[in-house]
Amino acid sequence: MNVVTSNRERRMRVTKITPMKAIRAKCIDCSCGEKKEVRLCPIEWCPLWPYRMGKRPAKDANVDKEK
Ligand code: SF4
Repeated sequence: MNVVTSNRERRMRVTKITPMKAIRAKCIDCSCGEKKEVRLCPIEWCPLWPYRMGKRPAKDANVDKEK
C-alpha cells in the first residue's frame, strides 16, 4: 500500500506501509496525534477499533489460522 506524505518543507513523497500501519496512522490522526488517546479510544463500534494499536487482535489471528 502506498501513501503520500509530506515533511516539514512540504515536500511530497510516496511511502509504502502495511494496511495495519495505515490503520494505526488513521487512528493517530483521528486522535489529533495523541497516541495515548488512541489506546483510550471509547468508540468501540468504530470498525477500526480492534486494530487501533497497529496489531491484529489475538482472537482475529486464530481465525486466520483456521482458514
Ligand atoms: S478506533 Fe476509530 S474512533 Fe477510535 S481512534 Fe481509531 S478511527 Fe478514531
